Amino acid sequence: MPPRLPTWRALKWLRSSPEPPKHEAGDPFAVARARMVEEQISARGIHDERVLAALRTVPRHAFLPEHLRQDAYLDTPLPIGSHQTISQPYIVALMTELLGLDGDERVLEVGTGSGYQAAVLSLLAREVFTIERRAELAARALQVLARLHCGNVEVVVGDGTCGLAAHAPYHGIIVTAAAPHVPQPLLDQLAPGGTLVLPVGEASSQVLEVWRRTPAGLEREEVAPVAFVPLIGEHGWSDDAWG
Ligand code: SAM
Repeated sequence: MPPRLPTWRALKWLRSSPEPPKHEAGDPFAVARARMVEEQISARGIHDERVLAALRTVPRHAFLPEHLRQDAYLDTPLPIGSHQTISQPYIVALMTELLGLDGDERVLEVGTGSGYQAAVLSLLAREVFTIERRAELAARALQVLARLHCGNVEVVVGDGTCGLAAHAPYHGIIVTAAAPHVPQPLLDQLAPGGTLVLPVGEASSQVLEVWRRTPAGLEREEVAPVAFVPLIGEHGWSDDAWG
């Protein structure tokens, strides 16, 4: 049973050690999901076995509206309502692998959306905080995450461009919407040795960036061209910037 939603300030439920999300009875998509990992993810160079196992485990279809579930394992982003999307599986895998998680980290995700990325992270890190600016998406994600027993995830409603100072610092930060530039609060909340992965750019041109806090200072790397919805907020785009 999902918990009753308290206020919109913070949605939290039982915390426990990570365990695989529970499958729907007789999961009809198990074969499609295994094929997705084989053909779209391994074949494109994602080799981290823990990441591959998480993607084989998390039922992506459970995070989609009913009428799109049969498309859940296609090589594409899909609409989740409120003009937002669940990211393409390969991009989820790539960004997750870039975080380099070993299981003992505290991770922040900015842009909960459907909750799928948070569920993947829940299998790979000790605790996951995920922040979403749209309350209706956060509520739906919370329900699915609770149903799948992703007990080490906390969903928060708010402006993720400011990070989540209450639980900082984070060993990993992942932003799943495109920023005009890296938000300074996210760099400030990155732990020593930590990694921040985010798309930076405008509607027509974005690049996936990785920032690492090393003993020598912050290092930045550009990884690949990507296409995300805008990161809207105090340290992101304005609400009407992309029309
Ligand atoms: N990670 C998501 C998933 O697994 O379904 C996909 C995220 S979707 C591509 C981007 C999300 O970022 C949207 O739900 C959008 O509302 C959210 N977003 C945009 N700006 C935000 C902000 N400042 N803080 C938090 N969420 C934001």
